[in-house]
Amino acid sequence: MTRRLIVVGGGLAGITAALTAADAGAHVTLLEGRPRLGGATFSFRRDGRWLDNGQHVFLRCCTEYRRLLDRIGSTDKTVLQDRLDVPVLTPWGTTGRLKRTALPSPLHLSAALSRYPFLTLAGRARVGVAALALKRLDLDDPRLDETTFGAWLDRFGVTERERAAMWDLVGVATLNLTAEHASLAMAAKVFRTGLLDTNDGADIGWSRVPLQELHGDAAQRALEDTKAEVRLRARVSALDTLPGGGFTVTADGATLDADAVVLAVPHEDAARLLPAGALILDGRPTDPTALAGLGASPIVNLHVLYDRPVFREEFAAGLASPVQWVFDRSANLGLERGRYLAVSLSAADDEIDRTNHELRERYLPALERLLPATRAARVEEFVVTKERTATFRAAPGTGRLRPYARTAVPGLALAGAWTATGWPATMESAVRSGLAAAQVALPSLDLDPGRVLPTTTPGAFPERTTTP
Ligand SMILES: Cc1cc2nc3c(=O)[nH]c(=O)nc-3n(C[C@H](O)[C@H](O)[C@H](O)COP(=O)(O)OP(=O)(O)OC[C@H]3O[C@@H](n4cnc5c(N)ncnc54)[C@H](O)[C@@H]3O)c2cc1C
Repeated sequence: MTRRLIVVGGGLAGITAALTAADAGAHVTLLEGRPRLGGATFSFRRDGRWLDNGQHVFLRCCTEYRRLLDRIGSTDKTVLQDRLDVPVLTPWGTTGRLKRTALPSPLHLSAALSRYPFLTLAGRARVGVAALALKRLDLDDPRLDETTFGAWLDRFGVTERERAAMWDLVGVATLNLTAEHASLAMAAKVFRTGLLDTNDGADIGWSRVPLQELHGDAAQRALEDTKAEVRLRARVSALDTLPGGGFTVTADGATLDADAVVLAVPHEDAARLLPAGALILDGRPTDPTALAGLGASPIVNLHVLYDRPVFREEFAAGLASPVQWVFDRSANLGLERGRYLAVSLSAADDEIDRTNHELRERYLPALERLLPATRAARVEEFVVTKERTATFRAAPGTGRLRPYARTAVPGLALAGAWTATGWPATMESAVRSGLAAAQVALPSLDLDPGRVLPTTTPGAFPERTTTP
């Protein structure tokens, strides 16, 4: 009889684990507590329009996430820049542009830096020296997780202004923390993989359709095509090990048996569901309550509908403005006359508890300063989406709180953007964690992961991991 894998959690991590295992021949049941797949990437209907819970972008270096898009038939629903090109807007009207050339790294950004109006000559030199030092860091050195990126930048005399104009511009959106709070290990990973190791790693991609269509709905079709069973509204309340091996999983009062389980839920939920003795951190069995140390960092998105065109770019970053990034999502809504802008605010500790009215009072004037055309436009709608626990908080010391996929219980694997993938909590991290979990779980089903995965999937086992 085919042995059963239960995947708990239908975000990108669970979707990837389930699809990979099903492709390897496993009998898969995916249990998701909500009425849809896609996890932290979803859309909702409002006045007949689909809005995303938050703007999501990916980079060309997100190779496994892009492979997942291919697998679920969604690549043609996304756009990926030929070459990184980021307009940077200011309230005083000066616009900069971070645009790469085809030259090899790090020369691919030298022309953009030499023209970038927000750095002095000395500032450019400091950015260059720090970038070269970043390129030399050993990403597997655990000491990188003992200090903040900000403290490390200070060693190069990088000023507040330079930090804002260069490092935070990219870092805050990818790490969901400012340099002042983010672990150097995570920042080094982002800048190395995105901007320094290759010349095209940071080319930016985004969805042309609502996230629900891009991920959750497409993945559900792909899973059902493999004959995997997807159960929605199936919130798992207990995960128990059986004396002779195997598991029982309780979801909404019903009990299911499984030969292997992938637990692909956020770390707070994993801490509640992990069986005693299962979690290994730093090579030692650890009480799951330790996962609370990963904390949470919020993201807020403002969805602003104007009655007329207000923006010529598809997106832009803001400097010296509370607006961090703004995206024109009009095409997603099929708008002809009006414009829908999504303002994405990462590391949003200061915004998460503000009322919609307060956010409106703060951000509509800020948008007027960055995008003068909005001054004459009428705001037809102002919607706020808040994700209080958008990602874990990638502060120093969190590296040792991120477990590998393998647990102390044979057949039980962990997945989630928060596990030890070496990446910050991104879609890429979620997908990589799903692959690692499939590698751990498949042998318990007498299936060979080598049929669908490379021999070593980073993040699966500590002894076989080097930073991908
Ligand atoms: C607003 C916002 C903006 C973001 N922007 C970006 C971006 O631009 N680029 C990027 O790469 N990343 C971004 N991220 C991060 C990215 O979305 C996440 O890292 C990734 O989607 C997490 O996937 P996951 O599968 O690990 O977890 P989740 O997506 O959280 O999935 C976990 C799933 O488990 C389910 N679950 C929990 N408990 C149970 C239970 N007991 N039983 C059954 N099911 C359960 C949940 O309902 C959920 O569906 C953003 C996140 C947010 C919130």
